[in-house]
Amino acid sequence: MSRMKRMKHEDFSEMLELEALGVLDQAQSEALRRHLEECDVCRAELRELRDTAAMLAHLAPPIAPAKETRARILERVRRSRLSPAESSASEEAITASPPRSFWLKWGLLAASLVVIICLALLLILWRERQRLSAELAQAERTERQLRTELDRERELRALLAAPQTRVIELEGTQVAPHARAKLAYDARTGRAILFATNLPPTPAGKAYQLWFIMSSGEAMPGDVFKAEKGDIETSFFIPPIARNAKAFALTLEPAQGTRVPTGEKYLLGSNS
Ligand SMILES: [Zn+2]
Repeated sequence: MSRMKRMKHEDFSEMLELEALGVLDQAQSEALRRHLEECDVCRAELRELRDTAAMLAHLAPPIAPAKETRARILERVRRSRLSPAESSASEEAITASPPRSFWLKWGLLAASLVVIICLALLLILWRERQRLSAELAQAERTERQLRTELDRERELRALLAAPQTRVIELEGTQVAPHARAKLAYDARTGRAILFATNLPPTPAGKAYQLWFIMSSGEAMPGDVFKAEKGDIETSFFIPPIARNAKAFALTLEPAQGTRVPTGEKYLLGSNS
């Protein structure tokens, strides 16, 4: 009993297949039932395993003995329990047949064991398949991330190689003296990449917003960016009118951005 109490979720998880097949012994089944009362994960998994087991059992060939065979076995059992006097008439028949009866019984037992083992293997394979598809989904996510990074790198290289590309260095202001940024943009297409580092991480509900400072002194609003760990690495488009801005700045604004700068200036760089 105390051994059962110390069992963990993982131990019970291992028992679920056996429980779904109905082959756990009573004590184990009881312990599992108590665990199920407080574990949603195991309960959901058992439900799924039972459904699968039912489906698999439906697919498996029937192993119950045919009606006639069953009747013959029952008849033999019944006769073997009769008193010697009563059974004497059929004694010869009984003594002649034990080998057949013996093999039939063991054959049926073996057959049902084979089916249980097959079902257990199918269940294990099915769980393994679930696990693998989860891993596969994770691998696909990683691949997509790498592809995005690769695309960005390719884009950056193409951008830097283009003769009409301008690269602007932005320096941290007194509120972020260690912050630095590089803004590269294609003056013809407006394709832009911004790398910023050492910014204070974006507070909740806030975002960094890019501003195009025109020669008139007016600040045109640009995109908003998050710097979760103090870094920004992003690509976007600069509208035609803003490509001749005399300077670029980054301020901290409400997350959705504003029409005119309201927050502190963090980065500033002039377009030479
Ligand atoms: Zn559990």
